[in-house]
Amino acid sequence: MNDYLRIPGLIDIHVHLRDPGQTDKEDFNTGTAAALKGGITTIFDMPNNLEPVFSVEKLSEKSKIVSNKALCDYGFFFGSDGENLAEFEKAAGKTIGLKLYLSDTTGKYTVTDESQIYKIFKKWTKKKPVVVHAENEKVGLAIKIAYDCGNILHITHITGENELAQIMDAKKMGMKISSDATPHHLFLSLEDKERLGKYAEVKPPLVSKRNQAYLWNHISDIDCIASDHAPHMKKEKESEISYYGMPGLETMLPLLITAFHDGKLTFEDIIRMTSHNPSKIFNLKRDDSSYAEINSEEEYLIENETLFTKCKWSPFAGWYVKGKIKRVFLRGTRVYEDGKILVRPGFGKNIK
Ligand SMILES: [Zn+2]
Repeated sequence: MNDYLRIPGLIDIHVHLRDPGQTDKEDFNTGTAAALKGGITTIFDMPNNLEPVFSVEKLSEKSKIVSNKALCDYGFFFGSDGENLAEFEKAAGKTIGLKLYLSDTTGKYTVTDESQIYKIFKKWTKKKPVVVHAENEKVGLAIKIAYDCGNILHITHITGENELAQIMDAKKMGMKISSDATPHHLFLSLEDKERLGKYAEVKPPLVSKRNQAYLWNHISDIDCIASDHAPHMKKEKESEISYYGMPGLETMLPLLITAFHDGKLTFEDIIRMTSHNPSKIFNLKRDDSSYAEINSEEEYLIENETLFTKCKWSPFAGWYVKGKIKRVFLRGTRVYEDGKILVRPGFGKNIK
């Protein structure tokens, strides 16, 4: 017997597993292994693969490639550049939502033309969320268009008052709108830039301690925590070019439990933001047979060498965290225990 704490398996709604196309950075096997190690039993993979997932054909191709590699359950987002509206109807049934880039990110997926954004929102099903990467004035634009067109809207990786205040106003108006924040915006700030150098580069950028404090002070208004796991290789991060993004699957839950010990949030908050709200927003069935068992008192050091992610680095390396994930169960099967994956690739299922 043990007295491990049991919490529902996490649903990480924002992940880039780079497969297919950039499997030197990560693939569906290493990425979903990292997820399980982090207590995450379902991940939602973003559509900005090297060849973007803008067509049903690309979606099927991706599905075929990753299905025999997956260790945890997964769902796919569909992407749009505004030129693929004819694909929406078919794609909606096979995906958990639409991901739209209104602000710049790695690759060329940003849609800037307002009339085109309107067309996308209008055409996308009103039953599944549009998840937007929107910074600054683009937040208000996304809210306005989703309001006009009647969409479910989710603003991902919010970084402060600008986004959250507008989202809270829209909620009061009865809109179906939600948000998530990432561990790197909650646990790292501009002050970490000196230590991390180019490893700190991420979109949206790290924020000031003041903005970060705003997020923590309003944690009960934030709907979800999502890792935005976006691995790049060390040699890429250290190069002249900027590769935005950082890994986060394995460190998200331990960091949150450490924050619980520091009195910054409750266990109920953690469960609300990592499983209850994700299932509610994306309309998933609650699954009591997928859960993680945690020794919430065990302290350990985050080390690059022991990470499962293929990129083998973490902005949190060298940090002591308190809260060790001991065992993970997925649909009733023990899938992870003490640093070992216990199922074969392909055990993870597409939830759609
Ligand atoms: Zn992302």
